[in-house]
Amino acid sequence: MVNKKLYDKKYNEKYDRARNPEHVKFYNSTEWKMLKEKKLQEVQYKCQLCNADYKNGKKSMSEVKFATDVHHIVGIDDDFNKRLDYRNLYAVCHDCHNRIHGRFQKKKKRPSS
Ligand SMILES: [Zn+2]
Ligand SMILES: [Zn+2]
Repeated sequence: MVNKKLYDKKYNEKYDRARNPEHVKFYNSTEWKMLKEKKLQEVQYKCQLCNADYKNGKKSMSEVKFATDVHHIVGIDDDFNKRLDYRNLYAVCHDCHNRIHGRFQKKKKRPSS
């Protein structure tokens, strides 16, 4: 069953890259949670991206959403050393965070016909 083993190994590697245990551990760490909270407080829980749009006149004040996420400008996949670098953080709302990562939510099911 050599082929089976090879397949499993490849599968596991792919899985590990998507959910790196080191990254999961980091996101659950007190250090990160405290830093994230500090960042959110600094911007008074206003999404920095929405706020930029507001300053550019693209959004009204009421459209500026609450920041719930803290984004790494240089992703921790690219540079793990920057994970606790305060200047590398960006406080964003959930929608803007998805936009940054290109994760568009598909709420509607694709019509089957
Ligand atoms: Zn936003
Ligand atoms: Zn992010």
